[in-house]
Amino acid sequence: MKLIEGQPISEAVYAECEQELAKLKVKGLVPGLAVVLVGEDPASKAYVGAKDRKCKELGLHSVKIEKDADISQEELLSQIDTLNADDSIHGILVQMPLPKHLSEEEVIRRIDPNKDVDGLHPVNVAKLAMDDSTGFAPCTPSGCQRMLLESGIETEGKHVVIVGRSLLVGKTLALLMMGKGKGANATVTVAHSRTRNLEELASQADILVAAIGIPKFIGPGHVKEGAVVIDVGINRVDDETAKRGYRLVGDVDFEAVAEKCEAITPVPGGVGRMTIAMLMANTIRACRLRSEM
Ligand code: NDP
Repeated sequence: MKLIEGQPISEAVYAECEQELAKLKVKGLVPGLAVVLVGEDPASKAYVGAKDRKCKELGLHSVKIEKDADISQEELLSQIDTLNADDSIHGILVQMPLPKHLSEEEVIRRIDPNKDVDGLHPVNVAKLAMDDSTGFAPCTPSGCQRMLLESGIETEGKHVVIVGRSLLVGKTLALLMMGKGKGANATVTVAHSRTRNLEELASQADILVAAIGIPKFIGPGHVKEGAVVIDVGINRVDDETAKRGYRLVGDVDFEAVAEKCEAITPVPGGVGRMTIAMLMANTIRACRLRSEM
């Protein structure tokens, strides 16, 4: 069994980022990322903090905007308008989920598609569906694809089963995997909560991706001998022995499944590391594309 770790693969992405940053610097350009956090959700705060730290580490201009949970839809949209008009900002990310009274869809649609480094604006989703590489692909699915590529795992003609159909992960990963080109050309099945006989279906996968949000949901019965398993899940489970009182586990029961796999990603230390790396890469690309406009 081979462990596909996020650390070395994300380092390769950061090395490319540094090369790109150096080229932009010569032109006097510094990519800027604005991350908007609404409310106090501890997991969201941790993600936003990690993104801010990584930007600073790489030398990107980083703006962290924190808003109270009771912000109105109009105020939030007006904040997006300000960022859309700000020339020092090339990428905008609104940390999801938003409080219930806010429309995530409307907020995403308000972001300038050229600054939508999270790749969730309808223009970018359509470009992904149309194999148009001028758009931005969402960070977590592109991170999964990059992990497969860097690990030398062939996807062409392979049966990829993705459990989960969110736009953020499952649905857009399906578009990437069924696209044309390297790290794609797969035959894709997408499963969700209404899928029947999930075990039977999942155990036909050459490459099984879990993006469900239920700790250790995928067990040995879902996995074919010799399959590649990509675990996108990040779930906090209570653990009194842990310093923070919780630990992170994936959607895959790693211990029970690992020995059946040709390769598998761990949680933590797997896909999660890739998400931030792809966000940095998208922001740098957004800056370069703007300079070429
Ligand atoms: P969502 O809740 O938006 O989607 C979960 C999907 O899983 C839905 O499509 C749902 O089906 C499906 N599902 C739920 N229960 C079952 C079931 N019993 N059988 C089959 N399918 C089921 O979650 P996300 O896509 O946003 O995230 C998924 C996981 O990935 C989470 O653990 C999240 O924390 C993690 N994540 C990790 C990231 C990273 O950087 N590594 C980034 C983003 C997310 P239905 O549509 O029918 O409800």
